[in-house]
Amino acid sequence: MIETIKEKFKSIRCYHLSRSIEALLEQARNNELSYLEYTQVLLDKERQERETNRIERYKKRATFPAIKTFEEFDFTFQTSITKREIKEWQSFDWIERRANKIFMGPPGVGKTHLAIALGYSAVLKQYKVKFYTMNKIMEDMILAEDENCFDEFLEKLLKKDLIIIDELGYLPLNPKYSHLFFRLINECYEYRSLVITSNKLFSEWDNVFGDQTVATAILDRLLHHAEPLIINGDSYRLKDTKDKFELNSNEIYNNKNIENRERVY
Ligand code: ADP
Ligand code: MG
Repeated sequence: MIETIKEKFKSIRCYHLSRSIEALLEQARNNELSYLEYTQVLLDKERQERETNRIERYKKRATFPAIKTFEEFDFTFQTSITKREIKEWQSFDWIERRANKIFMGPPGVGKTHLAIALGYSAVLKQYKVKFYTMNKIMEDMILAEDENCFDEFLEKLLKKDLIIIDELGYLPLNPKYSHLFFRLINECYEYRSLVITSNKLFSEWDNVFGDQTVATAILDRLLHHAEPLIINGDSYRLKDTKDKFELNSNEIYNNKNIENRERVY
């Protein structure tokens, strides 16, 4: 009978129950569960397992370059953003409202970290997320257009709830392709949420896209429902290196003095 039940679970795609039915029966017997309680256990088990698998799948499909979390983020080092704001963001009502977030600032201040952490916590809430660098998304869009499948590319991308585009403005964009980026932004407008990080202020976007009209049209749509945030401060990357560097330069300086002592005096 147990084998038949296992097969029946499989036939209705309840694979977890099919695998663990014996253990669950044992547990029910040991704890003298009522029929109702046991039914609840079965349902919860299948639901939980499905949720865990879905999150794992979404996490993989998001293609984050690394996993970064808010727990790892030092809010005392980076004070342009507060824990309270992060908490509000994690309600994800801004995704429901199809709003965007834009992080601007110099290198090393934590823009990518925040973008990934936000994307990752959205995945944990079962939102579909896709992480791209600006470079990669442009490459993919140019390729898709070359192969006459730009519409299909967009259609697939727009199935995501949240699209992260990291490092806008780091590398110059051939103005001939800026219309592709415009199409992406235009399609996302009031339909999907974007998180964009950039080392350039909005006033510099004309140069990024090499075309003022396109840059204005992009900004117009992006900013209509957006929360731009300027992230300032020192580079976290250089946090420890800075001291070392100062020490090294002092050492070098002292050694030079020693080497040159005879000549100097
Ligand atoms: P940006 O994208 O602004 O250039 P990153 O987010 O890539 O900077 O940060 C550089 C490195 O420093 C990453 O490894 C990141 O995890 C780390 N980092 C940056 N800011 C913080 C912070 N406030 N707390 C903890 N780690 C940080
Ligand atoms: Mg970055």
